[in-house]
Amino acid sequence: MTTNGKPGAAGFGQGSSTGQGGVPIAVAMGDGIGPEIMKAVLSILEAAGARIAPQFIDIGEKVYLAGCSSGIEASSWDTLRRTKIFLKAPITTPQGGGYKSLNVTVRKTLGLYANVRPVQTFTPFVKSHFPKMDLVIVRENEEDLYAGIEHRQTQDVYQCLKLITRPGCERIIRYAFEYAASTGRKKVTCFSKDNIMKMTDGLFHRIFKEIAQEYPQIATEHQIIDIGSARLAASPERFDVIVTSNLYGDIISDIAAEVSGSVGLGASMNIGSECAMFEAIHGSAPDIAGLDVANPSGLLLAAVQMLVHVGQSDVAERIQNAWAKTLEEGVHTADIFQEGKSQKRVGTAAFAQAVVARLGQEPSQLKKTSFGSQATDPRGGQKGSITQRIDAALKRPAVAQKTLVGVDIFVDHPIAQGMTGQQAAAVLSEGLQRVIGNALQLSLITNRGVMIWPEGFPETFCVDHWRCRFLAPKGHSLSNSDVAQALARLAEAKIDAVKTENLYTFDGQLGYSLGQGE
Ligand code: NAD
Repeated sequence: MTTNGKPGAAGFGQGSSTGQGGVPIAVAMGDGIGPEIMKAVLSILEAAGARIAPQFIDIGEKVYLAGCSSGIEASSWDTLRRTKIFLKAPITTPQGGGYKSLNVTVRKTLGLYANVRPVQTFTPFVKSHFPKMDLVIVRENEEDLYAGIEHRQTQDVYQCLKLITRPGCERIIRYAFEYAASTGRKKVTCFSKDNIMKMTDGLFHRIFKEIAQEYPQIATEHQIIDIGSARLAASPERFDVIVTSNLYGDIISDIAAEVSGSVGLGASMNIGSECAMFEAIHGSAPDIAGLDVANPSGLLLAAVQMLVHVGQSDVAERIQNAWAKTLEEGVHTADIFQEGKSQKRVGTAAFAQAVVARLGQEPSQLKKTSFGSQATDPRGGQKGSITQRIDAALKRPAVAQKTLVGVDIFVDHPIAQGMTGQQAAAVLSEGLQRVIGNALQLSLITNRGVMIWPEGFPETFCVDHWRCRFLAPKGHSLSNSDVAQALARLAEAKIDAVKTENLYTFDGQLGYSLGQGE
């Protein structure tokens, strides 16, 4: 059914019986190869009897160039919020000009907290060094360094805040376990860097261990992200489900897709409590746009996951099995065509027709797909919604006693010509102590995290950004107005405080990390 006059890609576009009465789905044809691969995918969905009703929206290049910096118009948001399911072809982000990433905007606005990327190899039909690779990366999508909170504070220093929250960790980690449990997967591996970031990544790892106890049937392990990524690149067969935070997940998703040899076949799901978005992992490939050579498989496998999500596992299975059969029979698009091994080189549309012709057939060498009754859509499915269960299981830990015990005041203090960092810190410490008096006790100064006062080394390289840690005098309590008064005194003395971080204890436990050397 066409709601806004977009050319129907398949029968769906002309109000076909399949489209009518089906689950409303927002569909964006995208840019570059987007329209041709989406058309191919919709033709397969329709032939397979998908019970969906596409509603077409415009996103991407022409929306950006029309002056909309987010790449999506208000009316399209209405469609997305109404349908809650988004099948998206790749788009082109114009270079320069401050255009915002549409993907990041959609994920955050619709609360799509879980990015799920299955990565599988299809040897010998698609070349790969790792014939047994079959893993799923579950990446947190909203937090971490991608919260987009960045500042320039001094001439030398820029910062980006890494935000990790308890509910954010709980939701993504439980999603990974629920996903593993509902898809028959055996192991969940957590990647973090908690040996360095003990509070943020430490929380992620701790919650992983907590939630793992609720799934005794699933094996678990934890790996530090650096060695974990190296192993993922060298021996991906050892992994099953991997759960990790946003930045690490972004990087390892690409490593996994690249080593699989099947970047063009990769699908990505973005799942939230209310909404979900499905897309291929590749971009709009402007170099081959309009040539009818692009491989529609990545978008097709994303659409298959979408059908599972809305409780149409039967149709999803038919499509994925027919697709695998097509691969097995050597009907290949140019990107995966192997001289001597493939049987027939086809274009985008002909590949779609080949899949349609094999609907009802199953692969004999590749793994036959069976999705069972998985369904994650909040609107139902035989097993109900995974995301609803996840939200219902969110823990509300007892409120901890929060006590203000000090403050880190970050000061912009240039290093005078000829001085070492240590000498500059000594000058700064004298000034700070004189100005603040006894209300707060200066306990240390660090530069880029390394202690430089009261003890330090002249060799330590310093910049113009000093973290000055003040603690409440022994036996005294502290309030926010004490901090405000200290800042007012610094301002009067023309000491440039660029940022503060209050130091708390929670039930007596430190709520801040110690400085290196403290
Ligand atoms: P790309 O993924 O579009 O292309 C990389 C290479 O892979 C090209 O040689 C291309 O021809 C090939 N390729 C990609 N998909 C293919 C397919 N389905 N079949 C056969 N070959 C395929 O990456 P790029 O060139 O870096 O980016 C092009 C545009 O896509 C940029 O504007 C970028 O911002 C955008 N992009 C969009 C998304 C998205 O919408 N999710 C993701 C990545 C990049």
